Amino acid sequence: MKEILLCKYGEVILKGLNKNRFESMMVKELEARIKKHGDFKVSRCQSTVYVEPQNDGADIDGALESARKVFGFVSIARACQVEKNMDDIISAIKEYIPQFIGNAKTFKADARRSDKRFPLTSPEIAAKAGEALLTVMPRLRVNVREPEITVMVEIRESQAYIHAGSFKGAGGLPTGSSGKCLSLLSGGIDSPVATYMMARRGAQIEALHFESFPYTSERAKEKVMRLAAEVNEYAGHMKVHVISLTHIQEELRRTCDEDYFTLLLRRFMMRLAQRVANERECLCLATGESLGQVASQTMQALVVTDDSVSIPVLRPCIGMDKEDIIKIAREIGTFDTSILPYEDCCTVFTPRHPKTMPVLSKVVAEEAKVDIKALEDEAFATLETIQL
Ligand code: ATP
Ligand code: MG
Repeated sequence: MKEILLCKYGEVILKGLNKNRFESMMVKELEARIKKHGDFKVSRCQSTVYVEPQNDGADIDGALESARKVFGFVSIARACQVEKNMDDIISAIKEYIPQFIGNAKTFKADARRSDKRFPLTSPEIAAKAGEALLTVMPRLRVNVREPEITVMVEIRESQAYIHAGSFKGAGGLPTGSSGKCLSLLSGGIDSPVATYMMARRGAQIEALHFESFPYTSERAKEKVMRLAAEVNEYAGHMKVHVISLTHIQEELRRTCDEDYFTLLLRRFMMRLAQRVANERECLCLATGESLGQVASQTMQALVVTDDSVSIPVLRPCIGMDKEDIIKIAREIGTFDTSILPYEDCCTVFTPRHPKTMPVLSKVVAEEAKVDIKALEDEAFATLETIQL
Protein backbone atom coordinates (compact mmCIF):
# COMPACT_ATOMS: atom_id res chain seq x y z
CA MET A 1 0.00 0.00 0.00
CA LYS A 2 1.46 3.34 -1.02
CA GLU A 3 1.64 6.01 1.68
CA ILE A 4 2.07 9.69 1.00
CA LEU A 5 1.81 13.06 2.76
CA LEU A 6 -0.69 15.65 1.56
CA CYS A 7 0.39 19.11 2.70
CA LYS A 8 -2.34 21.72 2.26
CA TYR A 9 -1.88 25.46 1.87
CA GLY A 10 -3.22 28.12 4.18
CA GLU A 11 -3.68 31.72 3.09
CA VAL A 12 -1.20 31.26 0.25
CA ILE A 13 -4.27 30.07 -1.66
CA LEU A 14 -5.44 33.70 -1.67
CA LYS A 15 -2.31 35.03 -3.33
CA GLY A 16 -2.95 36.22 -6.85
CA LEU A 17 -0.13 36.57 -9.34
CA ASN A 18 2.45 35.87 -6.62
CA LYS A 19 1.05 32.48 -5.71
CA ASN A 20 3.58 30.56 -7.76
CA ARG A 21 6.48 32.30 -6.04
CA PHE A 22 5.05 31.51 -2.58
CA GLU A 23 4.44 27.89 -3.54
CA SER A 24 8.00 27.45 -4.80
CA MET A 25 9.34 28.80 -1.52
CA MET A 26 7.21 26.37 0.49
CA VAL A 27 8.30 23.42 -1.63
CA LYS A 28 11.95 24.40 -1.37
CA GLU A 29 11.71 24.74 2.40
CA LEU A 30 9.83 21.46 2.74
CA GLU A 31 12.42 19.63 0.63
CA ALA A 32 15.24 21.03 2.74
CA ARG A 33 13.56 19.98 6.00
CA ILE A 34 12.57 16.42 5.05
CA LYS A 35 15.86 15.51 3.37
CA LYS A 36 17.22 14.10 6.61
CA HIS A 37 14.38 11.55 6.71
CA GLY A 38 15.29 9.86 3.41
CA ASP A 39 14.50 10.03 -0.26
CA PHE A 40 11.17 11.73 -1.10
CA LYS A 41 9.62 13.11 -4.26
CA VAL A 42 7.90 16.45 -3.70
CA SER A 43 5.37 17.75 -6.22
CA ARG A 44 2.44 20.14 -6.19
CA CYS A 45 -1.04 20.12 -7.65
CA GLN A 46 -4.36 21.74 -6.73
CA SER A 47 -3.08 23.79 -3.75
CA THR A 48 -1.55 20.69 -2.18
CA VAL A 49 2.04 19.51 -1.99
CA TYR A 50 2.53 15.75 -2.31
CA VAL A 51 5.41 14.08 -0.50
CA GLU A 52 6.07 10.57 -1.77
CA PRO A 53 8.64 8.24 -0.20
CA GLN A 54 10.90 6.81 -2.89
CA ASN A 55 11.95 3.65 -1.07
CA ASP A 56 11.51 1.70 2.17
CA GLY A 57 14.27 3.65 3.87
CA ALA A 58 12.28 6.90 3.76
CA ASP A 59 10.85 7.69 7.21
CA ILE A 60 7.37 9.05 6.60
CA ASP A 61 6.69 9.73 10.32
CA GLY A 62 9.83 11.84 10.52
CA ALA A 63 8.88 13.69 7.35
CA LEU A 64 5.40 14.34 8.78
CA GLU A 65 6.84 15.87 11.96
CA SER A 66 9.20 18.07 9.94
CA ALA A 67 6.45 19.12 7.51
CA ARG A 68 4.31 20.28 10.42
CA LYS A 69 6.92 22.93 11.16
CA VAL A 70 7.11 24.38 7.66
CA PHE A 71 5.28 27.69 7.42
CA GLY A 72 2.60 28.04 4.77
CA PHE A 73 0.92 24.67 5.29
CA VAL A 74 -2.18 24.51 7.50
CA SER A 75 -2.67 20.77 7.55
CA ILE A 76 -0.75 17.62 6.77
CA ALA A 77 -2.46 14.32 6.14
CA ARG A 78 -0.73 10.97 6.10
CA ALA A 79 -2.72 9.15 3.45
CA CYS A 80 -2.88 5.99 1.42
CA GLN A 81 -2.89 6.47 -2.35
CA VAL A 82 -5.09 4.22 -4.52
CA GLU A 83 -6.55 4.06 -8.02
CA LYS A 84 -9.75 5.98 -8.54
CA ASN A 85 -12.29 3.17 -8.34
CA MET A 86 -14.60 2.19 -5.50
CA ASP A 87 -13.24 -1.37 -5.17
CA ASP A 88 -9.72 -0.16 -4.47
CA ILE A 89 -10.99 2.62 -2.22
CA ILE A 90 -13.02 0.19 -0.14
CA SER A 91 -10.21 -2.31 0.28
CA ALA A 92 -7.91 0.52 1.32
CA ILE A 93 -10.42 1.71 3.93
CA LYS A 94 -10.56 -1.81 5.38
CA GLU A 95 -6.82 -2.40 5.38
CA TYR A 96 -5.31 1.01 6.01
CA ILE A 97 -7.66 2.88 8.33
CA PRO A 98 -8.01 0.47 11.33
CA GLN A 99 -4.41 1.16 12.51
CA PHE A 100 -5.36 4.80 13.17
CA ILE A 101 -8.53 4.12 15.17
CA GLY A 102 -6.88 3.32 18.51
CA ASN A 103 -9.40 3.53 21.33
CA ALA A 104 -11.80 5.79 19.45
CA LYS A 105 -15.43 4.75 19.68
CA THR A 106 -17.01 7.08 17.13
CA PHE A 107 -16.23 8.16 13.60
CA LYS A 108 -17.67 9.72 10.52
CA ALA A 109 -16.73 9.21 6.91
CA ASP A 110 -16.40 12.17 4.59
CA ALA A 111 -15.50 12.53 0.93
CA ARG A 112 -14.34 15.31 -1.34
CA ARG A 113 -14.41 14.97 -5.08
CA SER A 114 -12.38 17.50 -7.03
CA ASP A 115 -12.70 15.27 -10.09
CA LYS A 116 -16.38 15.68 -10.93
CA ARG A 117 -16.22 12.92 -13.56
CA PHE A 118 -15.99 10.34 -10.81
CA PRO A 119 -19.27 8.36 -11.07
CA LEU A 120 -20.34 8.66 -7.40
CA THR A 121 -21.17 11.88 -5.56
CA SER A 122 -19.31 12.81 -2.37
CA PRO A 123 -22.17 11.69 -0.03
CA GLU A 124 -22.36 8.37 -1.87
CA ILE A 125 -18.61 7.80 -1.56
CA ALA A 126 -18.73 8.72 2.15
CA ALA A 127 -21.62 6.32 2.81
CA LYS A 128 -19.78 3.42 1.16
CA ALA A 129 -16.56 4.27 2.99
CA GLY A 130 -18.39 4.31 6.35
CA GLU A 131 -20.06 0.96 5.63
CA ALA A 132 -16.72 -0.56 4.66
CA LEU A 133 -15.05 0.50 7.88
CA LEU A 134 -17.94 -0.86 9.98
CA THR A 135 -17.57 -4.29 8.40
CA VAL A 136 -14.00 -4.56 9.77
CA MET A 137 -14.54 -2.58 12.98
CA PRO A 138 -18.12 -3.32 14.06
CA ARG A 139 -17.61 -1.86 17.55
CA LEU A 140 -17.38 1.67 16.06
CA ARG A 141 -20.40 3.97 16.05
CA VAL A 142 -21.12 6.70 13.53
CA ASN A 143 -21.33 10.20 14.99
CA VAL A 144 -21.52 12.92 12.38
CA ARG A 145 -21.63 15.82 14.88
CA GLU A 146 -18.65 15.10 17.11
CA PRO A 147 -16.71 12.15 15.74
CA GLU A 148 -13.43 11.19 17.38
CA ILE A 149 -12.08 10.19 13.98
CA THR A 150 -12.96 11.51 10.54
CA VAL A 151 -12.16 9.13 7.73
CA MET A 152 -11.62 11.04 4.55
CA VAL A 153 -11.72 9.96 0.92
CA GLU A 154 -10.33 12.54 -1.49
CA ILE A 155 -10.86 11.96 -5.19
CA ARG A 156 -8.20 14.08 -6.82
CA GLU A 157 -6.86 14.68 -10.31
CA SER A 158 -5.15 11.36 -10.96
CA GLN A 159 -5.53 9.26 -7.79
CA ALA A 160 -7.69 8.80 -4.72
CA TYR A 161 -6.40 9.36 -1.18
CA ILE A 162 -7.67 7.91 2.06
CA HIS A 163 -6.77 9.08 5.53
CA ALA A 164 -8.01 9.21 9.09
CA GLY A 165 -7.75 12.95 9.64
CA SER A 166 -5.10 15.62 9.23
CA PHE A 167 -2.50 17.01 11.58
CA LYS A 168 -2.37 20.74 12.17
CA GLY A 169 0.36 22.47 10.18
CA ALA A 170 2.36 25.54 11.20
CA GLY A 171 0.25 28.00 9.17
CA GLY A 172 1.62 31.43 8.32
CA LEU A 173 3.57 32.37 5.21
CA PRO A 174 6.60 30.69 3.65
CA THR A 175 9.96 31.40 5.22
CA GLY A 176 11.72 34.28 3.53
CA SER A 177 8.63 35.61 1.72
CA SER A 178 8.44 38.74 3.91
CA GLY A 179 12.03 40.00 4.07
CA LYS A 180 14.72 39.72 6.71
CA CYS A 181 14.28 40.68 10.35
CA LEU A 182 16.75 40.99 13.22
CA SER A 183 15.09 39.63 16.33
CA LEU A 184 16.37 40.57 19.78
CA LEU A 185 16.53 37.27 21.57
CA SER A 186 16.91 37.03 25.34
CA GLY A 187 16.61 33.96 27.52
CA GLY A 188 13.08 34.95 28.57
CA ILE A 189 9.67 33.66 27.57
CA ASP A 190 8.58 36.50 25.32
CA SER A 191 11.32 37.04 22.76
CA PRO A 192 11.44 33.42 21.50
CA VAL A 193 7.68 33.71 20.94
CA ALA A 194 8.08 37.06 19.18
CA THR A 195 10.82 35.57 16.99
CA TYR A 196 8.58 32.64 16.10
CA MET A 197 5.68 34.99 15.30
CA MET A 198 7.81 37.05 12.93
CA ALA A 199 9.08 33.88 11.27
CA ARG A 200 5.54 32.57 10.97
CA ARG A 201 4.60 35.62 8.93
CA GLY A 202 7.35 34.81 6.46
CA ALA A 203 10.27 36.78 7.89
CA GLN A 204 13.70 35.30 7.52
CA ILE A 205 15.27 35.57 10.95
CA GLU A 206 18.64 36.59 12.25
CA ALA A 207 18.79 36.79 16.03
CA LEU A 208 20.82 39.11 18.23
CA HIS A 209 21.62 38.28 21.82
CA PHE A 210 23.35 40.55 24.33
CA GLU A 211 25.44 38.96 27.02
CA SER A 212 27.15 40.55 29.95
CA PHE A 213 29.94 38.20 30.92
CA PRO A 214 30.97 37.67 33.76
CA TYR A 215 27.71 39.09 35.20
CA THR A 216 25.87 36.64 32.97
CA SER A 217 27.23 33.12 32.78
CA GLU A 218 28.27 30.78 29.99
CA ARG A 219 25.24 28.68 30.89
CA ALA A 220 22.92 31.65 30.34
CA LYS A 221 24.33 31.95 26.83
CA GLU A 222 23.93 28.21 26.23
CA LYS A 223 20.31 28.55 27.26
CA VAL A 224 19.78 31.25 24.63
CA MET A 225 21.46 29.09 22.00
CA ARG A 226 19.13 26.28 22.93
CA LEU A 227 16.13 28.61 22.60
CA ALA A 228 17.42 29.77 19.23
CA ALA A 229 17.72 26.14 18.10
CA GLU A 230 14.15 25.46 19.26
CA VAL A 231 12.77 28.43 17.33
CA ASN A 232 14.96 27.44 14.40
CA GLU A 233 12.97 24.19 14.08
CA TYR A 234 10.32 26.47 12.58
CA ALA A 235 12.25 29.50 11.35
CA GLY A 236 15.03 27.54 9.63
CA HIS A 237 18.51 28.80 8.64
CA MET A 238 18.78 31.21 11.59
CA LYS A 239 21.98 33.03 12.41
CA VAL A 240 22.60 34.17 15.97
CA HIS A 241 24.75 37.21 16.67
CA VAL A 242 26.10 37.84 20.14
CA ILE A 243 27.38 41.16 21.48
CA SER A 244 28.83 41.88 24.93
CA LEU A 245 27.26 44.75 26.88
CA THR A 246 29.51 44.40 29.91
CA HIS A 247 31.45 47.62 29.56
CA ILE A 248 28.39 49.67 28.59
CA GLN A 249 26.58 48.43 31.68
CA GLU A 250 29.52 49.20 33.95
CA GLU A 251 29.85 52.70 32.49
CA LEU A 252 26.13 53.43 32.82
CA ARG A 253 26.15 52.28 36.42
CA ARG A 254 29.19 54.37 37.23
CA THR A 255 28.04 57.52 35.47
CA CYS A 256 24.26 57.81 35.17
CA ASP A 257 21.23 58.19 37.43
CA GLU A 258 20.25 54.66 38.51
CA ASP A 259 16.54 55.24 37.79
CA TYR A 260 17.35 55.63 34.07
CA PHE A 261 19.67 52.64 33.86
CA THR A 262 17.30 50.23 32.07
CA LEU A 263 16.10 52.80 29.56
CA LEU A 264 19.63 53.86 28.73
CA LEU A 265 20.67 50.27 28.33
CA ARG A 266 17.73 49.57 26.05
CA ARG A 267 18.68 52.50 23.84
CA PHE A 268 22.19 51.10 23.54
CA MET A 269 20.77 47.70 22.68
CA MET A 270 18.58 49.20 19.97
CA ARG A 271 21.39 51.22 18.41
CA LEU A 272 23.68 48.21 18.34
CA ALA A 273 20.85 46.14 16.89
CA GLN A 274 20.33 48.73 14.19
CA ARG A 275 24.00 48.50 13.31
CA VAL A 276 23.84 44.73 13.02
CA ALA A 277 20.61 45.02 11.00
CA ASN A 278 22.22 47.44 8.55
CA GLU A 279 25.24 45.24 8.15
CA ARG A 280 23.14 42.09 7.70
CA GLU A 281 20.55 43.78 5.46
CA CYS A 282 17.68 43.22 7.89
CA LEU A 283 14.76 45.59 7.27
CA CYS A 284 13.43 45.76 10.81
CA LEU A 285 14.05 44.82 14.44
CA ALA A 286 11.70 42.67 16.52
CA THR A 287 11.38 42.40 20.28
CA GLY A 288 9.23 40.45 22.73
CA GLU A 289 7.87 43.58 24.41
CA SER A 290 4.25 43.67 25.52
CA LEU A 291 2.55 46.93 26.40
CA GLY A 292 2.80 47.73 30.10
CA GLN A 293 4.36 44.39 31.09
CA VAL A 294 7.29 46.01 32.93
CA ALA A 295 8.54 49.56 33.52
CA SER A 296 10.49 49.65 30.25
CA GLN A 297 7.41 48.61 28.28
CA THR A 298 4.98 51.43 29.14
CA MET A 299 4.02 53.51 26.13
CA GLN A 300 6.24 56.35 27.36
CA ALA A 301 9.19 53.97 27.75
CA LEU A 302 8.66 52.50 24.30
CA VAL A 303 8.72 56.04 22.85
CA VAL A 304 12.09 56.58 24.55
CA THR A 305 13.38 53.25 23.23
CA ASP A 306 12.21 53.84 19.67
CA ASP A 307 13.67 57.34 19.60
CA SER A 308 17.16 55.82 19.61
CA VAL A 309 16.81 54.19 16.18
CA SER A 310 15.39 55.00 12.76
CA ILE A 311 14.69 51.41 11.71
CA PRO A 312 11.15 50.05 12.43
CA VAL A 313 10.87 48.07 15.68
CA LEU A 314 8.15 45.42 15.39
CA ARG A 315 6.67 43.93 18.55
CA PRO A 316 4.43 40.98 17.74
CA CYS A 317 3.57 40.40 21.44
CA ILE A 318 2.55 44.01 22.07
CA GLY A 319 -1.16 43.29 22.64
CA MET A 320 -0.80 39.93 24.35
CA ASP A 321 -1.21 39.01 28.00
CA LYS A 322 1.57 36.95 29.58
CA GLU A 323 -0.79 33.97 29.59
CA ASP A 324 -1.30 34.23 25.81
CA ILE A 325 2.45 34.37 25.28
CA ILE A 326 3.05 31.38 27.55
CA LYS A 327 0.46 29.38 25.64
CA ILE A 328 2.39 29.86 22.39
CA ALA A 329 5.71 29.20 24.15
CA ARG A 330 4.35 25.84 25.30
CA GLU A 331 3.00 25.03 21.84
CA ILE A 332 6.30 25.70 20.09
CA GLY A 333 8.34 24.01 22.81
CA THR A 334 10.38 26.94 24.14
CA PHE A 335 8.68 27.38 27.51
CA ASP A 336 10.61 24.77 29.50
CA THR A 337 13.91 26.19 28.32
CA SER A 338 12.82 29.79 28.96
CA ILE A 339 12.07 29.11 32.62
CA LEU A 340 15.52 27.67 33.36
CA PRO A 341 16.89 29.94 36.08
CA TYR A 342 19.77 31.81 34.42
CA GLU A 343 20.37 35.53 34.60
CA ASP A 344 19.87 37.92 31.66
CA CYS A 345 21.87 41.08 31.03
CA CYS A 346 18.68 43.08 31.70
CA THR A 347 18.57 41.70 35.23
CA VAL A 348 22.13 42.82 35.97
CA PHE A 349 22.17 46.14 37.91
CA THR A 350 18.40 46.65 37.77
CA PRO A 351 17.31 49.96 39.28
CA ARG A 352 15.23 49.92 42.47
CA HIS A 353 12.86 52.58 41.13
CA PRO A 354 12.87 52.46 37.32
CA LYS A 355 11.12 55.34 35.58
CA THR A 356 7.76 54.19 34.25
CA MET A 357 6.81 57.56 32.69
CA PRO A 358 10.17 58.73 31.37
CA VAL A 359 10.57 62.10 29.68
CA LEU A 360 12.68 61.77 26.56
CA SER A 361 14.69 64.97 27.07
CA LYS A 362 15.80 63.85 30.54
CA VAL A 363 16.84 60.43 29.23
CA VAL A 364 18.85 62.04 26.44
CA ALA A 365 20.54 64.34 28.96
CA GLU A 366 21.52 61.35 31.13
CA GLU A 367 22.84 59.55 28.10
CA ALA A 368 25.06 62.51 27.20
CA LYS A 369 27.13 61.78 30.31
CA VAL A 370 28.81 58.82 28.58
CA ASP A 371 30.75 58.58 25.34
CA ILE A 372 28.03 56.87 23.34
CA LYS A 373 30.00 56.36 20.14
CA ALA A 374 33.11 54.95 21.82
CA LEU A 375 31.10 52.54 23.97
CA GLU A 376 29.09 51.41 20.99
CA ASP A 377 32.15 50.86 18.79
CA GLU A 378 33.79 48.84 21.52
CA ALA A 379 30.68 46.68 22.04
CA PHE A 380 30.22 46.22 18.31
CA ALA A 381 33.76 44.89 18.06
CA THR A 382 32.75 41.97 20.34
CA LEU A 383 30.21 40.72 17.78
CA GLU A 384 30.39 37.01 17.07
CA THR A 385 28.06 35.08 14.78
CA ILE A 386 26.84 31.52 14.98
CA GLN A 387 25.07 29.78 12.08
CA LEU A 388 22.48 27.29 13.34
P1 ATP B 1 11.77 38.30 27.36
O1 ATP B 1 10.91 37.31 28.06
O2 ATP B 1 11.69 38.19 25.89
O3 ATP B 1 13.17 38.35 27.91
P2 ATP B 1 10.96 40.39 29.08
O4 ATP B 1 9.54 40.50 29.36
O5 ATP B 1 11.83 39.75 30.09
O6 ATP B 1 11.14 39.69 27.67
P3 ATP B 1 12.79 42.61 28.89
O7 ATP B 1 13.83 41.85 29.62
O8 ATP B 1 12.47 43.99 29.29
O9 ATP B 1 11.42 41.88 28.81
O10 ATP B 1 13.19 42.65 27.37
C1 ATP B 1 12.34 43.17 26.41
C2 ATP B 1 12.83 42.70 25.05
O11 ATP B 1 14.15 43.16 24.82
C3 ATP B 1 12.91 41.20 24.95
O12 ATP B 1 11.69 40.63 24.59
C4 ATP B 1 13.97 41.02 23.89
O13 ATP B 1 13.42 41.18 22.60
C5 ATP B 1 14.91 42.16 24.18
N1 ATP B 1 15.97 41.70 25.09
C6 ATP B 1 16.01 41.70 26.44
N2 ATP B 1 17.15 41.19 26.89
C7 ATP B 1 17.88 40.84 25.81
C8 ATP B 1 19.17 40.24 25.59
N3 ATP B 1 19.93 39.89 26.62
N4 ATP B 1 19.57 40.05 24.34
C9 ATP B 1 18.80 40.39 23.29
N5 ATP B 1 17.60 40.95 23.42
C10 ATP B 1 17.14 41.18 24.66
MG1 MG C 1 13.90 39.38 29.63
